[in-house]
Parts: sequence; structure tokens; C-alpha cells
Amino acid sequence: MPVFICETCGCVENTAVSNYWSRGNGPALCSECDPEIGKWHGRFPKIPYSDDMMTDVLNPPAKKENG
Ligand SMILES: [Zn+2]
Repeated sequence: MPVFICETCGCVENTAVSNYWSRGNGPALCSECDPEIGKWHGRFPKIPYSDDMMTDVLNPPAKKENG
């Protein structure tokens, strides 16, 4: 299942357990930041995204240029 970065808290969330697709062009929100859900699902730990995760996300942050 694809994962994405929550625009509010910056954690990694899975599309299958949030309203990512049904939200359409709206902000990408994790289940906890989504007012319609309001709490973390608990399927996996809520962790902030970092570059060394080597995880493909749907909305990766802008790559930093070296130097
Ligand atoms: Zn969030």
C-alpha cells in the first residue's frame, strides 16, 4: 500500500488507513490530523518522515541539493 507524508504533523501514513484518496485534491492528512477520523489507527507506529527511511512516498519533500 502506498504511503504519504501528513502535511500537518509530518508523520508517515498509509493510504489504506486514512482518507487520502477520498480527499481528492485536499491536503494529505494522517488519520489523527483528519477531523473526520481524529485519532491514530494504531496499525503501525506513528513516526515522522525522514530522508533515511528510504521509503517511497506519494508526496516526497523537495530534495535537498548537495552543497
Ligand atoms: Zn498528521
